[in-house]
Amino acid sequence: SDLSRLIRDRIRDVPDYPKPGILFKDITPLLADPGAFAAVTDELAGLHSVDKIVGIEARGFILAAPAAYKAGAGFVPMRKKGKLPAETLEASYDLEYGSATIEVHRDAFTPGERVLIVDDVLATGGTARAAVELVRRAGAEVVAVAVLMELSFLKGRDRLDGVELHPLVIV
Ligand code: IMP
Repeated sequence: SDLSRLIRDRIRDVPDYPKPGILFKDITPLLADPGAFAAVTDELAGLHSVDKIVGIEARGFILAAPAAYKAGAGFVPMRKKGKLPAETLEASYDLEYGSATIEVHRDAFTPGERVLIVDDVLATGGTARAAVELVRRAGAEVVAVAVLMELSFLKGRDRLDGVELHPLVIV
């Protein structure tokens, strides 16, 4: 589609970041283009009717916050451990080496609220999987996960067991 092309042309491949052998998808050229950023925001805002949009630290914040504004939904930050001030729920997941923990405020949702989770890139799916678990444990309903780019060769989609995935671009 036109949107897919618009995004694809504005994501830069950075070799060997953050480690040798990793080809990093850098979304900063997309964010710097007002038309492309607006088109992505409008697409994310129009996917589903939801009460809250969750952004995953840090690039997920940049996409989720304007989408929440546009959709008339609330914005909820999901953060790395130790960054949220009030009582939290946490979920840990494995990385290639070691593990990571993300948190959300325990009272971030009203029971039964409909939630869209947003991040920039779906890689192995560990982060998105943990985000889904946290929203559910906080008493809300995950309507979908939306990402700018799905790295399909990493099969992260398979870890979302049943949750609808909306990639704006698939590579
Ligand atoms: P996963 O948990 O392996 O799916 O990794 C996804 C998380 O790592 C997301 O929060 C992304 O922001 C980040 N990530 C992984 N690979 C990339 C990349 O190539 N570009 C930007 N972010 C990435």
